Amino acid sequence: MAVGFKRLDNEHYVNEPESIHVLQRTPMTDTCPPAAPANRTKVSLFDSHAHLDAPEFDADRGAVLRHAHAAGVKEMLIPAVTAASWPNLHALCESEPGLYPAYGLHPCYLARHDDGDLDALQAWLHHHPAKAVGECGLDLFDPSLDFERQLRLLRGQFEIAHRFDLPLVLHARRAFEQVILELRRFGKPLRGVVHSFSGSTEQARELWKLGFSVGIGGPVTYDRAQRLHKVVATLPIDCLLLETDAPDQPDASHRGGRNQPAFLVDVLDCVAGLRGEDPAELAHATTANARRLFLRAG
Ligand SMILES: [Zn+2]
Repeated sequence: MAVGFKRLDNEHYVNEPESIHVLQRTPMTDTCPPAAPANRTKVSLFDSHAHLDAPEFDADRGAVLRHAHAAGVKEMLIPAVTAASWPNLHALCESEPGLYPAYGLHPCYLARHDDGDLDALQAWLHHHPAKAVGECGLDLFDPSLDFERQLRLLRGQFEIAHRFDLPLVLHARRAFEQVILELRRFGKPLRGVVHSFSGSTEQARELWKLGFSVGIGGPVTYDRAQRLHKVVATLPIDCLLLETDAPDQPDASHRGGRNQPAFLVDVLDCVAGLRGEDPAELAHATTANARRLFLRAG
């Protein structure tokens, strides 16, 4: 049975449900400010989270890649969701320079993980070099996902990332505190990114101390994402990565449609506006951050 990648509603990424802003009208002064559009010919962007292997791209993956390159998005980290997806993801990354694989077991796909999948992941990594372990993590948004089983898989993937000396790509939906707790409890050094971050500045700083960057994507472009705007404006640039999470989580100007890596420039322009920085400089810095984390470059 095909399970689509699409989550129909990304509201919880824009504003946590307990946020008072959900019930408030958005004042004009706190919207995502316009930035001078980046010089598209010069920027080189790294989409730190793009599910380019998703079935949503089967019909036109080549065109999607061409659009990405034309927009300056020349590198992408492609995180897996299930063991069954690893062979195709491997083939895709072999087919094109600038596509980097991460292999792991996504918490939202619990029903498709077997007890032997952690062993299978280790065996796979011995023969298929990766740039990260993931996507893995904790999801407290969907109550049908057995939390104990999510924890077992996450802790197993922490061990594997540590053993292979690879960064982690973490999913944390309504689970930033739990993920921080697990990282502390693990005790051994880890590094990586918490993708689609929508937590507090304090949580982002705590994650940074634990070796983790935060990934910022489409939700930041929504006027209502006021807490996230403040977080993004104040964090040190070194801990920021940009992402699309394509085909999910489109930015405000592509709301309701399929997201794709080319749209990363809209995230870039928004984040640059919030920080009062030149988009080209922000592109340069965040690409360097992603290359340092995943490629050990620079
Ligand atoms: Zn993802």
